[in-house]
Amino acid sequence: MEINKIGEVRSKYKEPVGPDEMRKTKSIIEVEAEYVDGLDQIEDYEYLQILFYFHKSEGYDLISKRRRGPERGLFTSRSPRRPTPIGITTVELLKREGNKLHVYGLDAIDGTPVIDIKPYASFMDQPTLSLQKKTPRYRINKLIKYQNQHDLLLKAGELHGHYCPYLALGVLAAADVLKRFGAENDGMEDLLAVVETNSCFSDGIQYTAGTTFGNNSLIYRDFGKTAVTFVKRGDSTKNLRYYFKDSDLIEREYPEAAELFEKVVADRNGSREEEEKMKELWQETAFKIIEADPDKLFKIEADVEIELPDYAPIFDNKQCSRCGEKLMAPKAVQKDDKVLCKECAESSYYQLDGSGIVEK
Ligand SMILES: [Zn+2]
Ligand SMILES: [Zn+2]
Repeated sequence: MEINKIGEVRSKYKEPVGPDEMRKTKSIIEVEAEYVDGLDQIEDYEYLQILFYFHKSEGYDLISKRRRGPERGLFTSRSPRRPTPIGITTVELLKREGNKLHVYGLDAIDGTPVIDIKPYASFMDQPTLSLQKKTPRYRINKLIKYQNQHDLLLKAGELHGHYCPYLALGVLAAADVLKRFGAENDGMEDLLAVVETNSCFSDGIQYTAGTTFGNNSLIYRDFGKTAVTFVKRGDSTKNLRYYFKDSDLIEREYPEAAELFEKVVADRNGSREEEEKMKELWQETAFKIIEADPDKLFKIEADVEIELPDYAPIFDNKQCSRCGEKLMAPKAVQKDDKVLCKECAESSYYQLDGSGIVEK
């Protein structure tokens, strides 16, 4: 077996500090002259996997206490102390200058020997991708199973576009109910969420429970309460309503975030800096709330009486005689002897928007 040093790390860290801290810095990988040609077109890649040798590591224990949690086996950890002390980290490639790769996120100290560099490719390196094609909610179901609310919130942000306390509350309620129901939602309308608000809360629920608008499994009641009832069709034991009872939580525990929210969002009167600061505080607050015990934040009631709509019917199409566009038959308007869409007929309709359901 032969292992070659192909380069060395340049970092401001001369001694190891925690990996989380080290990953927040830029460092440079200096590739040795004889290997530089191997970097040809590496700029095409945003992320690289860096394999390096923990040159200061000595010895190992097969079972030991980890940084987080109780004792466990060495191969369940990323400890530098191992029989073959090799580290692997995915880093962001910032730029290449000759034999130097400027990278972000490398948790290796100054002088660490680099033994290999590979491009990161999500289709190969993200092992759940093929499973996800078969079961779209594969990753989410796993996160719910292991009650990893932190990562659920992280992913919910992809849908919602920002992190905020109410998004976190929605994630928290949905992750809790799916654990209690022991259910994996396949997006076929069996699990329904009856939400009583159209705020950020509902996005946390849509993402986490998979009860979405497009699946007809998100039912909206125009009550304006931070509350949701989860119901499983055909199983009357699976029925729980969550009402956010600790409604002054944010003003009480996160006053600075609440104050900036008033100014920036409610009064639309904040400066650019205040808006940035608010986003930062809102994000911090969201990631604190997600750690909370749902029983403390919500009034959780079982067996609430709730009337459910039927499965969404599949309608025939009709064609509007004026614009020529097709529409679901029951939505068509008959005017004189013509079939029209509501828009062409200038008839009234309902709209769901920030104000709730409004008649237009
Ligand atoms: Zn939000
Ligand atoms: Zn029309």
